[in-house]
Amino acid sequence: MADKPKIKELLNESACEHNQTKQAACNAPTPGATTGGCAFEGAQISLFPYADAAHLVHGPMTCLATSWETRATKTSWAGRDLTQVGFTTDVSLNDVVFSGEEKLTASIDYIMEKYRPEAVFVYATCVTALIGDDLDQVCKLAAEKHGVPMIPVHAPGFVGSKNLGSRLGGEAALRDLIGTKEPEKTTPFDINLIGEYNVTGDMWQYSHLLDELGISAPPIAPS
Ligand code: SF4
Repeated sequence: MADKPKIKELLNESACEHNQTKQAACNAPTPGATTGGCAFEGAQISLFPYADAAHLVHGPMTCLATSWETRATKTSWAGRDLTQVGFTTDVSLNDVVFSGEEKLTASIDYIMEKYRPEAVFVYATCVTALIGDDLDQVCKLAAEKHGVPMIPVHAPGFVGSKNLGSRLGGEAALRDLIGTKEPEKTTPFDINLIGEYNVTGDMWQYSHLLDELGISAPPIAPS
């Protein structure tokens, strides 16, 4: 397994001329002012195109409420679209004191029993990151138990902007999902577009150009 991405490395946004001098996240929020999207929200949006996976928010109910369905992340995935279901552990004061890991494990078990997703993304949020719940360990044990990838996403809101969260989401997929299984059909020109979350279907404006070039970019090409 690759190392966790270093936040400092991801703050180097090489395509931004302003970022070269300040070495801080562009559009970094000030505490208590994440209007417009926190890092967690950015991570979840960038991973929503994995529509046959469950997206489990490990945090208070309000974190789910701030992000879910705030962006249309289009998919033409022919199977079930689980992004239409909001999953959260809804941690409470009791979990803050005694740890939310047990509740997280029970939530994953419930999702696997009721929905049988192809994978589960588990998102840290400010509260569960601060109390130190070990998402990596819970996901590792759950993956062994259920036999599908469980991907911890370490992008709690306080680490930075929505943009940084999108990058952390992509890093999580790269670290714990991509490469775990081969697609049924491959071509010499397959690419993964990590972080292209197809807001309002804008990817479909150019994906036909990839098709014409003979480049396959599953799974969100238009059906
Ligand atoms: S992760 Fe943090 S900043 Fe984002 S919605 Fe939850 S509490 Fe707010």
